[in-house]
Amino acid sequence: MRVTVLAGGTGGTKLAHGFALLEDAVDLSIAANVGDDTEIHGLVVSPDVDTLLYTLSGLVDRERGWGIAGDTMSAHAQFERLGEPTWFTVGDADLATHVHRTRRLRHGDRLTDVVGDMAVSLGIRARVLPATDDRHRTIVETDVGALAFQEYFVRLRQQPVVRAVRYDGVGQPTPEVLEAIASADLVVIGPSNPIVSIEPILVLPGVREAVAAVRARTVAVSPIVAGRALKGPADRMLESLGHEVSALGVARLYADIVEHFVVDEADADLAPRIEEELGLAVEVLPTVMRTDDDRRRLAAALVALA
Ligand code: GDP
Repeated sequence: MRVTVLAGGTGGTKLAHGFALLEDAVDLSIAANVGDDTEIHGLVVSPDVDTLLYTLSGLVDRERGWGIAGDTMSAHAQFERLGEPTWFTVGDADLATHVHRTRRLRHGDRLTDVVGDMAVSLGIRARVLPATDDRHRTIVETDVGALAFQEYFVRLRQQPVVRAVRYDGVGQPTPEVLEAIASADLVVIGPSNPIVSIEPILVLPGVREAVAAVRARTVAVSPIVAGRALKGPADRMLESLGHEVSALGVARLYADIVEHFVVDEADADLAPRIEEELGLAVEVLPTVMRTDDDRRRLAAALVALA
């Protein structure tokens, strides 16, 4: 079965990994958010793509959910001595990823090809597809002014209140991403931050329409469980942008492009409301993915739905 997952770097990545763990049963493509991309030490850093690459290859630091397990920090210490800003942590092995990507991009290669080759080098079978090869950076308007995404997320630890989101650069989706959506037997909007992980993918011209065109075989999984984000600022962002902080609030954002919606067992009471108000087919499943088994089981349940 061909499955395409739209994903950010935490919830969506864990679910994408669940599909990868189903091995031959699933031919997996992942459309990855690149709105978080930035330059650090003059290098192009693509945090969500890298978390996907590190997770699917088994290199990831499971504790943190990002970076490479056991990575050392010699370069970080030297950057510090040299007076470079070090609020964005780059481990030594991680640095090699950024040097490699930056060298190839400067050579004129597409990000899609660079990431595709990296995935092969790391032994990943899934297609990891950056949503766009163009500059498409998320800017958050906050109570302390407009901030580049990583300034908000890492340097200021998501403390500013988000009032609006816009993009630096108008990217075009890649043909690979549009094809992966159109040809999938199952499209999954992963349990990622709807505002700054999924929307930056959907906002690319034609992507929302491409998903809507296959909405009968599209399912979204709620990243909000029992009224809270399991990690990160999604709950606070939904609130400050005027959305209800619940699985229902998330379902409203996707109601025009999905027919199926998954809420966690903790939110079973919301299922009838989502069905009545939005006309979606709601499935109640355990969605909190702590172990590989949790990831595999949720992915298998979604495959069974399709
Ligand atoms: P980012 O790129 O690191 O911001 O990560 P994502 O946007 O992919 O993921 C952040 C969202 O994932 C948060 O809203 C979390 O609530 C959600 N999330 C993280 N882990 C899980 C999980 O195991 N299950 C569900 N349902 N949501 C999760």
